[in-house]
Amino acid sequence: MLAVRGLHVYYGEIHALKGLTLAVEGEEIVALLGPNGAGKSTTLKTLSGLLPPREGRITLLGESLVGVPPHEIVRRGIAHVPEGRRIFNRLTVLENLEMGAYIRRDGGIAQDLERVFALFPRLKERKAQVAGTLSGGEQQMLAIGRALMARPRLLLLDEPSMGLAPVLVEQIFETVRDINRQGTTILLVEQNAAMALSVAHRGYVLETGAIMLSGAAAELRENAEVRRAYLGES
Ligand code: ATP
Repeated sequence: MLAVRGLHVYYGEIHALKGLTLAVEGEEIVALLGPNGAGKSTTLKTLSGLLPPREGRITLLGESLVGVPPHEIVRRGIAHVPEGRRIFNRLTVLENLEMGAYIRRDGGIAQDLERVFALFPRLKERKAQVAGTLSGGEQQMLAIGRALMARPRLLLLDEPSMGLAPVLVEQIFETVRDINRQGTTILLVEQNAAMALSVAHRGYVLETGAIMLSGAAAELRENAEVRRAYLGES
């Protein structure tokens, strides 16, 4: 579905992605792991059109995304849940969800709203509440729900577990699995490698802007280097 080859991205003089190559097949959950500053968020921002690559190819279903503006990338099927959620604090839950569907002209919006409310009953209960007053976990649910309102083929999730209590992390990942089972492909950036590898089919390990290791999630869980560096084992 998504193919990335030889991607180079800079922030001014800082060379953040150095020839990144990866692929995501339809219906997969793929985890992108790596230490702080490795370039994980940069990868997602580049895929969603927020950063221009200096070199390299990105294709979605065979069509190039390089140079395509962010709103058009959403229309082509990629929705991004950024790090830190970035919901509209002063709008209600329902208004935030409606914003997620702003590019659409089709008649399926009401149905997708029901899908989001089925995945996150808490959002239905709180649909009239101003989003800035939600808890951190609820805000994460809202950020994911808003992205789903664009009816993406590919969902990019940046650190969905960040700042959440363990019980909420479990819930969010359970829902990530449900979203995938309903047919949405997912590229997941996570610091919580154990949790990410428990839901993902495959994974990549990114270090200083390039892929160092990749494989089936089960293989990565057994890999000595991954266990030491990312799973907190000695
Ligand atoms: P984290 O989990 O800490 O967000 P990450 O793997 O997502 O890490 P990125 O945020 O993609 O890492 O950063 C990759 C590199 O680019 C780092 O060296 C970082 O300092 C640099 N970088 C990121 N954003 C900017 C920016 N806006 N301006 C300059 N340099 C940046």
